[in-house]
Amino acid sequence: MRLTHDLHTHTTFSHGKHSIREMIDAARKKGIPELTISDHGRGHPFYGVDPKNFKVMREEIDFYNSIYDDIHVNLGVEANIIGSDGTIDVYDEELENCDVIYAGYHYGFLPDTFKNFYSFFIPSVAGQIVTPIKDLMIGRNTETYLKMMEKYPYLKMITHPSDKIPIDIAPVAKMAAEKDVLLEINQHHEKLDAKDLRIAAQYPVNFVVGSDAHHVKDVGNVGRTEQIIKAAGVDPSRILNVTF
Ligand SMILES: [Zn+2]
Ligand SMILES: [Zn+2]
Repeated sequence: MRLTHDLHTHTTFSHGKHSIREMIDAARKKGIPELTISDHGRGHPFYGVDPKNFKVMREEIDFYNSIYDDIHVNLGVEANIIGSDGTIDVYDEELENCDVIYAGYHYGFLPDTFKNFYSFFIPSVAGQIVTPIKDLMIGRNTETYLKMMEKYPYLKMITHPSDKIPIDIAPVAKMAAEKDVLLEINQHHEKLDAKDLRIAAQYPVNFVVGSDAHHVKDVGNVGRTEQIIKAAGVDPSRILNVTF
């Protein structure tokens, strides 16, 4: 399985180890014709992109697109889900400069309001440790994902759905199909696993695999996701950014 588009990668603009240029060169060396740089949303206090850098990244990517004809590079952002109402940390700078907006749940995001701190941030972390809270949170987390897709018609992809935030994947996959949102099978994160992928595939949603590379050596690496796809028995034509 080979990537036709490595659509989920990070650089030193968040907490990746390499520059945009180095990530592009790694993709070119591996013969990957399309790359998306998708650093973390600004709502993450430790590794969110400084808002003023979206324009800088845009200009840098436009420059490389003008000099390379063996690769096309897009700018994206992997926004954080920051509220139980599905709010994500996307503002003018992201919308003006990015080609694509993704969103995912990450530990340590900064909630936008105090209400979201105690109603979403605290329970979502506690739900990792305390099983009864986890069970309670599944319904609420699922609602959060559904509200997010309602709220942001431009949302292109949910990164590692259900990872560190348990959800009921069936209604999420159903709405993702309706809203044309891609669901990611991620090289590094546990979810989607084969079980969730099998359930999601019952709906007419499309999938992609993401290397989630934070290092040049990981660009294009999606070997683990191939195992998941095989184990789930999903038709490979449903995975949009690969060839076999
Ligand atoms: Zn992520
Ligand atoms: Zn990522």
